[in-house]
Amino acid sequence: MAESVELPSRLAILPFRNKVLLPGAIIRIRCTSPTSVKLVEQELWQREEKGMIGILPVRDAAEVKPVGPTMSQGLDSLDQSSKLQGGSSDSHKLDAKNQNDVVHWHNRGVAARALHLSRGVEKPSGRVTYIVVLEGLCRFSVQELSTRGTYHTARISSLEMTKTEMEQVEQDPDFIMLSRQFKATAMELISLLEQKQKTGGRTKVLLETVPVHKLADIFVASFEISFEEQLSMLDSVDPKVRLSKATELVDRHLQSIRVAEKISQKVEGQLSKSQKEFLLRQQMRAIKEELGDDDDDEDDLEALERKMESAGMPQNIWKHSHRELRRLKKMQPQQPGYSSSRAYLELLADLPWQKASKEIELDLRAAQERLDRDHYGLVKVKQRIIEYLAVRKLKPDARGPVLCFVGPPGVGKTSLASSIASALGRKFVRISLGGVKDEADIRGHRRTYIGSMPGRLIDGLKRVAVCNPVMLLDEIDKTGSDIRGDPASALLEVLDPEQNKTFNDHYLNVPFDLSKVIFVATANRAQPIPPPLLDRMEVIELPGYTAEEKLSIAMRHLIPRVLEQHGLSSEFLQIPEGMVKLVIHRYTREAGVRNLERNLASLARAAAVRVAEQEQFVPLNKGMEGLATPLLENRLVDGAEVEMEVIPMGVNNQDISNTFRITSPLVVDEAMLEKVLGPPKFDGREAEQRVATPGVSVGLVWTSFGGEVQFVEATAMVGKGELHLTGQLGDVIKESAQIALTWVRTRAADLRLAATEGINLLEGRDVHIHFPAGAVPKDGPSAGVTLVTALVSLFSQKRMRSDTAMTGEMTLRGLVLPVGGIKDKILAAHRYGIRRVILPEKNLKDLAEVPSSVLNNLEIHLAKRMEDVLEQAFEGGCPWRQHSKL
Ligand code: ADP
Repeated sequence: MAESVELPSRLAILPFRNKVLLPGAIIRIRCTSPTSVKLVEQELWQREEKGMIGILPVRDAAEVKPVGPTMSQGLDSLDQSSKLQGGSSDSHKLDAKNQNDVVHWHNRGVAARALHLSRGVEKPSGRVTYIVVLEGLCRFSVQELSTRGTYHTARISSLEMTKTEMEQVEQDPDFIMLSRQFKATAMELISLLEQKQKTGGRTKVLLETVPVHKLADIFVASFEISFEEQLSMLDSVDPKVRLSKATELVDRHLQSIRVAEKISQKVEGQLSKSQKEFLLRQQMRAIKEELGDDDDDEDDLEALERKMESAGMPQNIWKHSHRELRRLKKMQPQQPGYSSSRAYLELLADLPWQKASKEIELDLRAAQERLDRDHYGLVKVKQRIIEYLAVRKLKPDARGPVLCFVGPPGVGKTSLASSIASALGRKFVRISLGGVKDEADIRGHRRTYIGSMPGRLIDGLKRVAVCNPVMLLDEIDKTGSDIRGDPASALLEVLDPEQNKTFNDHYLNVPFDLSKVIFVATANRAQPIPPPLLDRMEVIELPGYTAEEKLSIAMRHLIPRVLEQHGLSSEFLQIPEGMVKLVIHRYTREAGVRNLERNLASLARAAAVRVAEQEQFVPLNKGMEGLATPLLENRLVDGAEVEMEVIPMGVNNQDISNTFRITSPLVVDEAMLEKVLGPPKFDGREAEQRVATPGVSVGLVWTSFGGEVQFVEATAMVGKGELHLTGQLGDVIKESAQIALTWVRTRAADLRLAATEGINLLEGRDVHIHFPAGAVPKDGPSAGVTLVTALVSLFSQKRMRSDTAMTGEMTLRGLVLPVGGIKDKILAAHRYGIRRVILPEKNLKDLAEVPSSVLNNLEIHLAKRMEDVLEQAFEGGCPWRQHSKL
């Protein structure tokens, strides 16, 4: 910026419409009107030296206010007389509009010089335009305005102070104070702007180097202020006036920036808060969606209330739950206890207080048909079920005993119970009681405990959603009692028609009426069921099936069911009877049919894979033409070599699918059995192999899986006459072993185990008796005869017959006492391929229960005394008997 400017007395004048150029300001304008283009061309473009022009603000006539103090008399007259046409401005648009407008010239302007000039020619009109960058230099006042060609010129006089005048002013304390004030405000503004824009301190340098009265113009020129303010700044010729005006304007600008900042901060704050909320809400929604719970909490509570209203709770329970709901409504969802309280109310609302399946008119014949359709054999059981249903039909609220099906796994206990449900047209729910030791499992935990929940009964009722289902209490014999209470006593309450009207679940804490539920129980054995509980139930035994029964069940029920479950039919897979027999004998040795069903399912799966593969094969062939091209392309893209199957043109697609149909069904053969089920697990020669050495006997025992063949192994070694017992034996069986040993020792001479009487069989040796399988716990007295046989075989070094098995308790005196589970044991012997069974004589009556098809294949020998057993157990009878004194 020039220090001092030499102004000519006349200047070409470029009018600025409603705009002021202040000294020190730099502006870029585009000149398009013929007048201004001419001015620029003549005054700036064509000059050798840098030209100078005067910028004079003009205002539209419409905006002229009553003559202000800054308007000189001279210009007034000029305004009125000349009515000059304002032909030039910085905008073309304004030009067009201004052609006929009257404009008012300001009497003060600013001399400016061009810093940069560029000339352009518009195409296609060929009109010339200029872009000029102008710098304001100093103020002048217009003495006289005249025209030169198309543009104006003015006679002017400078309004700048001389150097001495300026020096004088600078001494003025007022000016000093004002300039300090201005600099401070300006500094503040610069700091703020720098802080905001993070720019370097270049502007601050200006404050030190440029005279303060010029700084005032520069600062003000950089703000957006009104035209009036710009004019009054232009008119402030006195440096003091100029400084105070500039300070005011800078300060105002500073304040406006601060206010704007504050507002934006506030807005930003609000925005980030709302953004945060938005984000959290989004997250919450996502979590709720994940939990399958995407409603709003409030909507949720309303929905809960509606659900509670329609749950049909008894009056007192409704009141109780409403109180709880009111409490819940006052809670925040984050509050501890909210979710547990909600879960509790959800349960209350979900429970079937009144909702029941409609009782259908019981048709006994239909029920019988249904039982027959679903179950093979079991004539007596079905008979009993029909009787039970008949009583219910006559007296629907009869408090008859609870049916309890007792038998090994897989004999159809569960499916019988579900048949009862469908005969009655009721829903069926199964509650597993196996391993329940805690009373709370039945009755629920009190809500004071963390993670408390209702008992299995209430939970089952919630699941089934009706108050009158058939409820199966599965494995009722597997409940045990310990310090956590006795589940059996809770079950007693459940099964007692007097008490179960108001069953009290600890979690629920309000009584629930169980009297409409029909209970059916299952157990593997009746013996572990506590007597009071057993007393409430009617035990129906299902002892297990013979191989023939299993075959029939498989052919009539299991195979059709399994095929259907695997999406097959006999068109695809056939399992001949012979193969089913092989599966029964070689792959299963169970009382029920569960493993049999599992093995058949394995065969069906293998067949399903083959069928599925073939089905894929057919459409591929069918659509060969269509598929070949894309497949080929894919392969080629991968760069692999393509091998294509050549299909003769003459083969039609129909033929291919027909061929496929003819190749099926798949018939299971022995090879397939081995491939799918593996090598046979049982070969029927186990007993023979096991008793190949003396000291082994074959017993029959009763387990929760039904009857089983139990081998007993005895061996003797050098020792001190001790008896060792292994095989997870209970006290009763251990005592039986003691009795057996004692009996053999006392009868040693009679049995010719010792040469003379009085010889101690255990002299210098220990006896060890083992019951495989070692991991299965065993107990009971029925192994007595088997133990003696093993010991006799050991001491006599004679092998027991491998085709014989036995059961029976023995007294110390050698009497054989009857035992339980005869039917199961005989069936087990039959399964093992055993031909002869030795039983206590008193068990004769139990043979009536055994199917004749099994009995026909067995030799049954009844024994009264231990000698009778030994007589049958050894090949050629008991050779010692004639010497026995007994
Ligand atoms: P449980 O409850 O006694 O352990 P399930 O009722 O679960 O045994 O029976 C196992 C499978 O055997 C079921 O698929 C059942 O239908 C079938 N089943 C058992 N006994 C028979 C039977 N007598 N007739 C037809 N299917 C039977």
